[in-house]
Amino acid sequence: MEKYLGETIPKLGFGLMRLPMKEGAVDLEQTKRMVDHFMEAGFCYFDTAFGYLDGESERAAKAALVDRYPREKFLLATKLPAWAGAKSKDEAQQMFYTSLERTGAGYFDFYLLHNLGGDRTKCFDEYEIWDFLQARKKEGLIRHLGFSFHDKADVLDQILTEHPEMEFVQLQINYTDWEDPDVESRKCYETARRHGKSVIIMEPVKGGTLANPPEEVMNVLKAADPEASPSSWAIRFAASLEGVITVLSGMSNMEQMEDNVSYMRNFVPLSEEEKKVIDRAREIFNSFPKVPCTSCAYCIKGCPKNIGIFGTFQAINVYNIYRDLNAAKNKYQWNTEGSKKAKASECIGCGKCEQVCPQHIHIREELKKAAEVLE
Ligand code: SF4
Ligand code: SF4
Repeated sequence: MEKYLGETIPKLGFGLMRLPMKEGAVDLEQTKRMVDHFMEAGFCYFDTAFGYLDGESERAAKAALVDRYPREKFLLATKLPAWAGAKSKDEAQQMFYTSLERTGAGYFDFYLLHNLGGDRTKCFDEYEIWDFLQARKKEGLIRHLGFSFHDKADVLDQILTEHPEMEFVQLQINYTDWEDPDVESRKCYETARRHGKSVIIMEPVKGGTLANPPEEVMNVLKAADPEASPSSWAIRFAASLEGVITVLSGMSNMEQMEDNVSYMRNFVPLSEEEKKVIDRAREIFNSFPKVPCTSCAYCIKGCPKNIGIFGTFQAINVYNIYRDLNAAKNKYQWNTEGSKKAKASECIGCGKCEQVCPQHIHIREELKKAAEVLE
């Protein structure tokens, strides 16, 4: 296994963004079983963030991992979102200590400025987060410092030029976004590598979308390997790229964990033949019109009408990809009224959501179109 930043890290990381839930709270018992299975299989990298599940993800990391394993047996990453509601430098910097306290980790192996790009980057400048975190690194509270990023490649190039001290970059990379002009996965990856940065990959299964591809894609994948899951193709695609420290998968149940562990335990990069299968799957996937929402939920926080934004897009994508209006309407009902969210037609067009959407979705326009089909 290659070494990155002086560490040898298995190519699968456990993303703690979509943990199993039970009665409105993180299902800690199932999370513990998943952590145990992951560790027993030889994996060690865990990725959380200050904002995941309103802080419950970091608390779950403490209960399921930090309190139950020797500190040197795992690597813990978390992230500081200076753009998410901090009203002062002190408040933004305090997020670091809050994460330290919530996780009980003592120090972070990997620490990230969360979601750079767009208007968000200036918050890290304004609140002097760059220097603040360098100082924490010198104190030994951070071992490796980097950032996660959602924007275009030229913006990444500028940030890396201004901040050569950053050790790594976390990027959204999956086989359908690879050439997507809105996401620029390939261009961002190449920019990071040109700056000599190692890469951590997030959203390799595109928020779960690639785990349940439409029939046309499924047929191509199954014809190539009847045993392999659609997720395995997506994660192996990401992990096969050169310069990748690890690939994060936001696993929500034991079944997903077992599947991921089964093929990543002895990871084999994609062969040339397998890469052609991925190319074909991408072609088919990209021929369907759909809203490229990853359900990150950044838009929801600032919405004055509490619109079920990503739930609406999940529902309209069921219609776009599977052409099943009943299933789409059921999903829509559940994701809006059923989840205490307002319907798409109640949007007042303020545009706040579009300022934070890492996928640059024209949310207002898409909500209007979705309302016409689903309401
Ligand atoms: S434009 Fe609509 S969906 Fe977006 S934040 Fe405003 S009310 Fe919410
Ligand atoms: S619309 Fe954008 S910000 Fe909102 S959940 Fe989807 S990807 Fe995230």
